[in-house]
Amino acid sequence: MKATNNVNRLQGMLEKHSTLLTDGAMGTMLFEAGLEFGDPPELWNIERADVVNSIQSAYVQAGAHLLLTNTFGGSSFRLRQHGLQDRQYELNRFGAANLKNTIESLDSTSLVAGDIGPSGEIMAPLGDLEFDEAVAGFAEQCDGLIEGGVDLIWIETLSSMEEMEAAVLGVKQINSDIPIITCMSFDTHGRTMMGITPEDAISKMLDLGVFAGGGNCGSGIAEMLEVIERMHAAAPDAVLVAKSNAGVPELEDGKAVYRADPEAMADFAIAARARGASIVGGCCGTRPQHIRAMGAALRRT
Ligand SMILES: [Zn+2]
Repeated sequence: MKATNNVNRLQGMLEKHSTLLTDGAMGTMLFEAGLEFGDPPELWNIERADVVNSIQSAYVQAGAHLLLTNTFGGSSFRLRQHGLQDRQYELNRFGAANLKNTIESLDSTSLVAGDIGPSGEIMAPLGDLEFDEAVAGFAEQCDGLIEGGVDLIWIETLSSMEEMEAAVLGVKQINSDIPIITCMSFDTHGRTMMGITPEDAISKMLDLGVFAGGGNCGSGIAEMLEVIERMHAAAPDAVLVAKSNAGVPELEDGKAVYRADPEAMADFAIAARARGASIVGGCCGTRPQHIRAMGAALRRT
């Protein structure tokens, strides 16, 4: 594993483009392709790999530099809810290897980011998930991702500081050199659900030695910009990530809908960069056309 080279590759890419673009939503696209609500998206890394590959191809072609594997819920904690915990390694390894092949088949230099989402459980002492158990669970997921060939690990949508630390330590248990990017979701009046502020989050992320840190998902564009502004003020030298939903989610017939159009996300990319972000992208509700518009705006201005 040439992990130190991966830090250099990521650093080199950042210097070359000055702002890196991630992909957009996977879930939104999978539901449109027929995934039923409540079904595990990770199973499609094997059973409907053609669908996952075509969504990821569209993001590569839209200009994303960093592509996330379809493994957000690929920890044993979440796969257990579907009786799939025994297939954890396989689902993560395929998710990574398929994406790597997709990128190579398009002659792209984009990097594969192994996506790790929250456990969905509450950490002790408030909840039942013990710290060591969390570290071990995240390490197992990371093992499959690294075997599948990811270039970096992307930990996102976290609310708890303890869980973020457990995830980072889990990754480091498997590979202590691979670049790690961490994002928390500040969806509760400028804090995470567990009450963490952007300032405390970025300070902890830097203490953990991550390559970059920031926010993803959350409550729309304006709040994401405020999170980045506060992180930048607290840690001016940090490489910051802003990966926003396509606007504030609104409920319509019991489903979340996101109304920001590609132009609004393009404006977001420029505004996030101006506030100190150097990795920008889309979360829930964003599509390849949003990512394409963001890339074009970043290159234009
Ligand atoms: Zn999201």
